[in-house]
Amino acid sequence: MTTGSTLAPTPGTAPVVPGAGANTEPATRLPLATSTALARAGAGYFDWLDHVWPAAGCTHPIRLAGDLLTVNATTGEVLRSVPTEGMPDGIIYKACGNRRATVCPSCAETYRRDAYQLVRAGLIGGKTVPASVAGHPAVFATFTAPSFGPVHTRHVRRHTCRDKTRCTCRPAPCHARRDSPVCPHGRPLACYARHEREDQVLGQPLCLDCYDHDHHVVWNNQAGELWRRTKQAIERHLNRAARRRGLPRVRVSHGKAAEYQARGSVHFHALLRLDGLDPDDKARIIPPPPGITVADLDEAVRYAAAAIGFTTDPHPEHPAGWPIAWGEQLDVRPITLTGDGTVTDAMVAGYLAKYSTKGTEVTGHASRRLDASTIRLYADPKGTHTERLVQAAWDLGQHWESLRRWAHMLGFGGHFLTKARRYSITFAALRDARVHYRRTQAQGPDYDQQRLDRQDDLDTETTLIVGRLTYAGTGWKTTGDALLANTAADQARRYREAGREELAHQNALGQATHAA
Ligand SMILES: [Zn+2]
Ligand SMILES: [Zn+2]
Ligand SMILES: [Zn+2]
Ligand SMILES: [Zn+2]
Repeated sequence: MTTGSTLAPTPGTAPVVPGAGANTEPATRLPLATSTALARAGAGYFDWLDHVWPAAGCTHPIRLAGDLLTVNATTGEVLRSVPTEGMPDGIIYKACGNRRATVCPSCAETYRRDAYQLVRAGLIGGKTVPASVAGHPAVFATFTAPSFGPVHTRHVRRHTCRDKTRCTCRPAPCHARRDSPVCPHGRPLACYARHEREDQVLGQPLCLDCYDHDHHVVWNNQAGELWRRTKQAIERHLNRAARRRGLPRVRVSHGKAAEYQARGSVHFHALLRLDGLDPDDKARIIPPPPGITVADLDEAVRYAAAAIGFTTDPHPEHPAGWPIAWGEQLDVRPITLTGDGTVTDAMVAGYLAKYSTKGTEVTGHASRRLDASTIRLYADPKGTHTERLVQAAWDLGQHWESLRRWAHMLGFGGHFLTKARRYSITFAALRDARVHYRRTQAQGPDYDQQRLDRQDDLDTETTLIVGRLTYAGTGWKTTGDALLANTAADQARRYREAGREELAHQNALGQATHAA
């Protein structure tokens, strides 16, 4: 039996490293994986790898069988039909496309890069977005949930660190109280610990029985509506100012990401850009009048975040409904393109993109949609904080369908990355560009830039490739296939990154030479 160390998946590359791919079988299965990989690595290997390449990095690709049609987009005429039967394995592979890094690292990485491109295009222009947006006032704001009961927290009064995501500053005591009060359940309502960033207790209620889990999941569920009303109020506030000053109307375009806090509530990170409004062509992105500034935008966001709130519909368990408003913590910062402010366009885009690949993992809970047969595994009225949140969403969901539907997301049913229609290009456009590019060219180090450059051509494209395909299964056919495909994709990614590093190094050298 040959061991994995002699197998090179692509010529001239290092041997297979166990674990380099994303297959989840234990290492003891490697000899079997290697033997199936060796069978695959024989005749037709390169054709096969080429064929599976669009999905090569994916953990659970979808297998499809049927016909691929080339269609004239204007007339609908089918120009060519190619059955998948004649292709390697008789099927085509489609990447699962899951955005969550814990589900599929490769697809999540693709999603993150697309998210970065589209958020950034909205700030600096490019592709279908005019470059003039770079001159529009813009702020980056974080909206938080209110308190549903005291939880263990880490708060630093004044940061001296540079990067808050790696903060090592000394935090204040969690809940210091002079009088050491206790709750009706006899538990202390004080905590004098200075919690470190990785402390497991962070986000946990001081008393699970006092904490209002119902209000919490209802708030998560209604957060999208709260955002909608808030954005409307921001625009109205700005337009009142514009009218007072005799200026034309303005509009706010946004991109935003939802992020779960350790306590299981959702925060919104939103990028708000001030646009003008062309009454004759509402789709056009134009600069706002010079009389409305970033200070006005800042003020409008603060005003709306404090003023907007509503009460939900009555619920049989809670006839008065629940109040829905933002928490007191609000962070608003102007975005600069020059890098001399606190946040730059690249930082903001990177930040939003990163959150878009995460879900509830930070709360310690991660499951798929729950039903009557699986709910018991994750919900418990006397259990942990997250088990109680899932339970609350499930129970209240008996009358509010969307709470039950999103019980596995602790009530929140919104998208993780959303944007106003006119903010930037779309995910679909980026996906189309990528598929189109894959079908027309080989991949090189400039892959990302080239596929974006293709975007402009796409609109004028007259033929489409569409599939008349049926589902043939999920996942790779064998562990060996998973190993080969994932490893090859991983290596290609490393080459791309190495190429970029090389370039960055050269640029740094170039600048050093200039400076000398
Ligand atoms: Zn995938
Ligand atoms: Zn504490
Ligand atoms: Zn700090
Ligand atoms: Zn209590």
